Amino acid sequence: MSADDELSLLIIVLDTNPIWWGKRALGEAEQFTLSKCIDAVMVLGNSHLLMNRTNKLAVIASHTQESRFLYPGKRWAAADPFGEGGPSMESNCSGSKDGKYELLTAINDAIAEEIKDLMTKTDMKGQQTETLLAGSLAKALCSNVDINKMNKDLKANQEIKSRILVIKAAEDSALQYMNFMNVIFAAQKQSILIDACVLDSDSGLLQQACDITGGIYLKVPHMPSLLQYLLWVFLPDQEQRSQLVLPPPVHVDYRAACFCHRNLIEIGYVCSVCLSIFCNFSPICSTCETAFKISLPPVMKAKKKKLKVAA
Ligand SMILES: [Zn+2]
Ligand SMILES: [Zn+2]
Repeated sequence: MSADDELSLLIIVLDTNPIWWGKRALGEAEQFTLSKCIDAVMVLGNSHLLMNRTNKLAVIASHTQESRFLYPGKRWAAADPFGEGGPSMESNCSGSKDGKYELLTAINDAIAEEIKDLMTKTDMKGQQTETLLAGSLAKALCSNVDINKMNKDLKANQEIKSRILVIKAAEDSALQYMNFMNVIFAAQKQSILIDACVLDSDSGLLQQACDITGGIYLKVPHMPSLLQYLLWVFLPDQEQRSQLVLPPPVHVDYRAACFCHRNLIEIGYVCSVCLSIFCNFSPICSTCETAFKISLPPVMKAKKKKLKVAA
């Protein structure tokens, strides 16, 4: 199979949580703002497009109230948003000023416009403070389906290799645990790689996502040098990676969140019907409402003792 028969789609999911980035902008110790992060993302996106003319790019902002395509966005509404000709250049940019490839200028302008729009329309009075990462990943998977469909109409012998890179800033949300795991297994089934570049605190959910789909999990040691890590670790595709000496795999935190309190637990009770996880025994499963016919008291005592010993 020649290189032209292979289409490589990179979907970048960027965490734009305004609360986390707001705190970062206020802190004086380490000056790393959202705009610097977006600059780095643009360079990575442009580099990916330059690696091969058939390469495709999508950028999704994962916000607290919505997940939005920064590119190809609403303004990029052409008949074929992933196509090579794409939108009309005149409406999107004033042409190349510095000898840069016009398409890249247009893409960067579109991303900057969308993010500006997203940030100014954020309702800070809203109760939602967590990043909607699971939703954004689902959106990324859907865009992969879209491009797959489109491609089948174009060329029969072309093959698409997709990967998702998550640039994660804010804390994990245990509330999204179930949605998140569903998305991860959907990605695995479609053989889509999930990479994670974590800026701040480690994310157990993303560690599992990378481990299951065969992606790379990296916690950036020094935030201002984000771009170097993006280009070194995340620009090469799966084939090229085998020839590089990349950071070793991390220890994966495989604890699951219980469905009752969303706490991370190592040992718990699992519903035999729907596989829901609980930290306490309950005679009726709250997810599927199955009633368990067990002679309760002796079993309960024995299990509780066991749990204590294990803890
Ligand atoms: Zn619980
Ligand atoms: Zn159940």
